Amino acid sequence: MQPDLGNPKQTIAVIQKYGFSFQKRYGQNFLIDGHVLDKIIAAAGVTKEDVVLEIGPGIGTMTQRLSQAAARVIAVEIDAALIPILGETLADCGNVTVINGDILKLDLRGLLEREAGGRPVRVVANLPYYITTPIIMGLFESGVPINTITVMVQKEVAERMQAGPGSKDYGALSLAVQYYAEPYIAANVPPNCFIPRPNVGSAVIRLTRHEKPPVAAADPELMFRLIRASFNQRRKTLLNSLANASELSFSKEEIGAAVEKMGLSPSVRGETLSLAQFAQLSDLLSMNCYKK
Ligand code: SAM
Repeated sequence: MQPDLGNPKQTIAVIQKYGFSFQKRYGQNFLIDGHVLDKIIAAAGVTKEDVVLEIGPGIGTMTQRLSQAAARVIAVEIDAALIPILGETLADCGNVTVINGDILKLDLRGLLEREAGGRPVRVVANLPYYITTPIIMGLFESGVPINTITVMVQKEVAERMQAGPGSKDYGALSLAVQYYAEPYIAANVPPNCFIPRPNVGSAVIRLTRHEKPPVAAADPELMFRLIRASFNQRRKTLLNSLANASELSFSKEEIGAAVEKMGLSPSVRGETLSLAQFAQLSDLLSMNCYKK
């Protein structure tokens, strides 16, 4: 029976045994608090029916618990130095497959097809913070079947994902995440729950994937370009940010006409628009006057 790693003593013992050195470039902050680990797994709603994809198992602290809660666990770890350690800490976990690879470069669709027979998976992770956004957006945009993504992220990033129009945290990330999923912040986690301690606060957020997007924009790609352009210059009016954006080719008159049709003031800022309003704007522009 392998010892429970969710405490400072066992984590330090494993690290010392293998002479492991933490790699800052891989965002390695290992969890050492059993309560937080239990909270993440409860928030993820993992059951014995589920296949879980864990990103960055580290020394296997959360993987051990996931192995007990789920039917199967697929864990992808970039750091080759952790693979022999996982071999030992997960020796009793017959339902775990560890893959040494970069989650951003892996053929995820192929992997999940092979390992999970294409059934929807739950993603659970204490994410490396330096690539939080590319990982989450990559998971959604890849179109692989996913039920929920429950992850530890930097607290400010969790707040941005959950923010609504008018809030200072509201931005392109809020809209992108909320197009694909319903966000819920399940817990705030202080730095002393990790080794080494990160110099930012953390939060556990669950993203429950929508069966279909809450808005039906005819051209979602254009909608996201409008969103990005609006928030690139968030202190400017919507009209000016969109007319000046190099990635768009609408005239001020075309944008003005669409804004007026929506019943909005010409001085409105993009940061006050909801996802539904961005979808409407994108439909008006693409139907009437969108020039390639
Ligand atoms: N799950 C462990 C825990 O909670 O103690 C470790 C979490 S640590 C914040 C992030 C983990 O992700 C590290 O093990 C790191 O090596 C791994 N990692 C970093 N970048 C990665 C990538 N691109 N693909 C897969 N794993 C990565």
